[in-house]
Parts: sequence; structure tokens; C-alpha cells
Amino acid sequence: ENNNLFIRGFMILFLSCITIRLNFCISNIPSSLRILPLEGHLNFDDVSHAARDFGNRYQHHPIAVLHPKSVSDIAATIKHIWQMGPRSQLTVAARGHGHSLQGQAQTHGGVVINMESIKVPEMQVYTANHPYVDVSGGELWINILHESLRYGLAPKSWTDYLHLTVGGTLSNAGISGQAFRHGPQISNVQQLEIVTGKGEVLNCSSEQNGELFHSVLGGLGQFGIITRARISLEPAPTMVKWIRVLYADFTAFAKDQELLISAENAFDYIEGFVIINRTGLLNNWRSSFNPHDPVQASKFKSDGRTLFCLELAKYFDPEDNNEANQEVEKHLSHLNHIPSTLFLTEVTYVDFLDRVHVSEVKLRSKGLWDVPHPWLNLFIPKSQIHNFAEVVFGNILTETSNGPVLIYPVNKSKWDNRTSVVIPEEDIFYLVAFLTSAVPSSSGTDGLEHILNQNKRILEYCKRTLIGVKQYLPHYTTQGEWRDHFGPKWELFLKRKSVFDPLAILNPGQRIFQKAT
Ligand code: FAD
Repeated sequence: ENNNLFIRGFMILFLSCITIRLNFCISNIPSSLRILPLEGHLNFDDVSHAARDFGNRYQHHPIAVLHPKSVSDIAATIKHIWQMGPRSQLTVAARGHGHSLQGQAQTHGGVVINMESIKVPEMQVYTANHPYVDVSGGELWINILHESLRYGLAPKSWTDYLHLTVGGTLSNAGISGQAFRHGPQISNVQQLEIVTGKGEVLNCSSEQNGELFHSVLGGLGQFGIITRARISLEPAPTMVKWIRVLYADFTAFAKDQELLISAENAFDYIEGFVIINRTGLLNNWRSSFNPHDPVQASKFKSDGRTLFCLELAKYFDPEDNNEANQEVEKHLSHLNHIPSTLFLTEVTYVDFLDRVHVSEVKLRSKGLWDVPHPWLNLFIPKSQIHNFAEVVFGNILTETSNGPVLIYPVNKSKWDNRTSVVIPEEDIFYLVAFLTSAVPSSSGTDGLEHILNQNKRILEYCKRTLIGVKQYLPHYTTQGEWRDHFGPKWELFLKRKSVFDPLAILNPGQRIFQKAT
């Protein structure tokens, strides 16, 4: 009995020591960070903002938020954590504009870097033969647009929404209706400055530190923090002819989309969306589209059919208006849409590119922006898109009033397979984006539960039929799923991680790696 008492006593003492040591380590971490010499500052109190994102479903609280004023602030913080080694649980997450969907820019108990605080380098446009702009990794695309337009220039490839940061979209791919011609945003970057998971600051491009450059592009923030990017520019137009035509037949719709993406000079932007069981056919939160003939537009009824809307844009300058009209007419005459459904409007280039923001302002005023967004984005190989459309549109998905469902093809040849992004094997693949908003406490078809279940059924269908789908803005919870996602690229991804962030300090919110302890 004495022996038992002794063992029990010893165990209690031993466990207490471990607890005290753990508590000591945890409470000691902020103070070791507190003394870091920084130009900016670490905030240990007001961290709740960094635990939220656009998805509005995941909340992981960091212990601190770094508001860097320079690249050295970021390097010093990461180097400090790197030097603590595996004994520290601290991780670091770069937060762009926080428009992730499932906590990808968050870290539980780590340090979030508020990338928008860093204002260096100051944005600088170079107007030489191959123009470009140098920007900080935390810069918003809308600011880049305005600055480059002062020189009559603009980036070539966009996202539908411009209030996103350079670092955030380059960590994914950055796609919109220009991608068929120019590739995603990651195909339009010439150079990067990166802080690796060891706190080193490195410049990279295809020619210099190429392995790091390609790792980081589409790399889900796993290999380094993007602190500067050099982005290719082109002469900017001033106006846009923005066109929508409707189809009742998916085959005709997809055939026309594929025809247009292979015609080099037909249109400058090609997207499309699905309309199921809804009124107000032409509008959704993505855009306030005001056709020239609103009466004609409102007369058109879907009569319960599933419709497909092809969305096109032709850039032009007012002095070339006639020529642009002729070009548009010529290309439209080859299409097989429902004849009475040609809707056209003309807007400035800025209004066209910033179209989603108009809707954001409206939704915010109604309290409908900060709701859960259980989005699902898929890349589907061209050969499978018809089967996918048949099973999903109208069957699994029975209405599109919860948010737009985008669908448009892109050319694989415009993507660089040395980057980390994962895409299907075929030469043409489609982006299908279910951009749903949930009504927080609803148990109906607009409720979170219902939408998540719908997403699950779509993913199960893809898995069951082995149609070679890849998730865009991917989200998985196990390493096995990540391995499947990357397929043949997984070994390279692992190798790159072991070189650039061996302790897995960076961006744990992607849930691919856990910090080595
Ligand atoms: P965050 O959400 O803050 O970060 C995204 C990821 O990148 C995180 O893992 C983060 O840790 C990491 N990260 C952030 N900054 C850096 C950095 N400097 N260095 C390294 N890693 C970093 N995407 C498209 O491709 N096309 C679209 O048309 C499109 N439209 C959208 C519309 C809306 C309304 C929203 C909310 C999103 C849209 N997206 C689109 C998705 C968007 O590209 C991603 O959600 C992107 O991650 C958001 O950028 P962010 O700046 O908010 O990044």
C-alpha cells in the first residue's frame, strides 16, 4: 500500500511538473515575442478580427497579430519562431483580406500577419516595352487597377472581385473570364520576394530561385510569405461591351463557350452561369447588370427551365466603337443562343472589373454580406462536363437563388505546370463555382445544413464516378485527402515543404501539415 501511495504521489508530482512547464512555456511565448525589435508592432489584445473570414464558419484565435511595417518585421518574427525550434507550438499565418472560406488564413494560438499593414515597396509602375508594376504582397487588386490606370495600363488577368490581396490570390491561382487568354494571375507574375519558413528573405523568378518561385505560386501559403510581386501589365481599354445571352440547352452553351475560348480575338472575357428556378434572371449578387433594353429583359421568363447564361465582354475605346460593334456582331452571329435573349450594356472598364463590389455594398447595407458562405469550387475536365451538368444541375442542385453558380472553360496551355496549383489533366477544363450564401438560422433550402449537404452530394458524385475533378480553393481535413488532391504532385509538394518550411510553421489553416513538435 505504501508503495502504491508512493507511486501515486510521484505521478501527481510528475504531471504537475509537466503542467507547470507547459503553462510556463505558453505564458512565456508572448513575452519572448514582445521583446522583438520591430518597426511595426505585435498586438496581443485585439486579435478576434484575425479569427474570422468571409466563409464565416471557422474561428481560430491567434495569440498575436503582427502589423508589419517592413519585410524585416516579417522575417524577424518568422526567424524568431524558427529558432525556437520544434519545442514551440507557434505557427504563423499570413492574412490578406481574410476572404478565405474555411479558416485558411487563421492559426490557433499562433501569430497572424496582417499583410495589408505593409506598405513597402510603394507601388511603382514601369512603362517600358513589357510594362509591369511592383507591389507589396498585401496590396489589394483594386488599388493596383487604379494606380496602373494612371499610366494607361492594367494587369491582364483578374479575379471577379478586386478587394482581395495579391498574396492571397497568388497563393491560390486567381481566375476570372480573362484566364482563357492570359492564364490565371499566377501566370502573369514575373518576380516575387518571399520570406521562407526559416525567416530568410529571397527574391525569385523563373530564372532566379526558380524552385521557390514555382512552389509559392498556387502554393496555398505553404512555402513562404509573398512580400512583393512584379505583375505584368498591358494597355488598358476605357470601355467594355458587356453581353449576356441565354441557352436552354447545355450542349449548345458549352459548345459556344469552347468555340469562343479558342478564337484568339473574339472576346476579352468569357464566363457563364447557371439559372435554376429563379426570377430576376440576369442578376445575382455578383453583378448589377443593367441591359440597354430592360423591358425586353424582364419579359423573358424561364418557365421552370434550367437556363445557361453566357457572359462576354469586349473591351474598346470610344474612337473604335464602330469597329468593336462589327466584331461583336460577327462573333455573336456564330452562336446558338435563344435568339430573343441578347442583352447588352456598356460600362467603363473600371465599373466592369469592380462589378462585384457594387453588390457587396448593397448586401452589406442589408446585413447579408457577413453570413456563412459554404462555397464549393471545382475544376472539371472538358470530357466530363456534360455528365456533370446532367447530374448536378436540376437534380442535386434544384435552385440557384442562394447564390450564383459560375461555369466557364479555360485553356490548360496557359497554366504553368511547374507551379503548385493542381488542375485536371485535359487541355480544356471548366471552373464550376457554387457561390452560395446561407441564412444563419434557416432550416430550409437556404440554410447552411442544406447547402453543405448539397456540396457533399456533388463531391460524392465526383468521387464515385472518378471524373478527375480537382477542387479550387481546396479544403480537406486529412493528409490522405491532400495526397489524393495533389496526386503525382504530392511528392514534390512534400519535398518543397521540407526545403522552404521544414518545421511547418507557415499557414497551418490550410490543414495540410502540422507543425513538427
Ligand atoms: P486570405 O484569405 O487572407 O488568404 C488566403 C490564403 O493565402 C491563406 O492561406 C493565407 O494564409 C495565404 N496568404 C495570404 N496572403 C499571403 C501572402 N502574402 N503570402 C503567402 N500566403 C498568403 N478567386 C478567384 O480565383 N477568382 C475569383 O473570381 C474570386 N472571386 C472571389 C469573390 C469573393 C467575394 C471572394 C470572397 C473570394 C473570391 N475568390 C476568387 C477567392 C479568393 O481568391 C481567395 O479566397 C483568396 O484567398 C482571398 O484573398 P485574400 O487576400 O483575402 O487572402
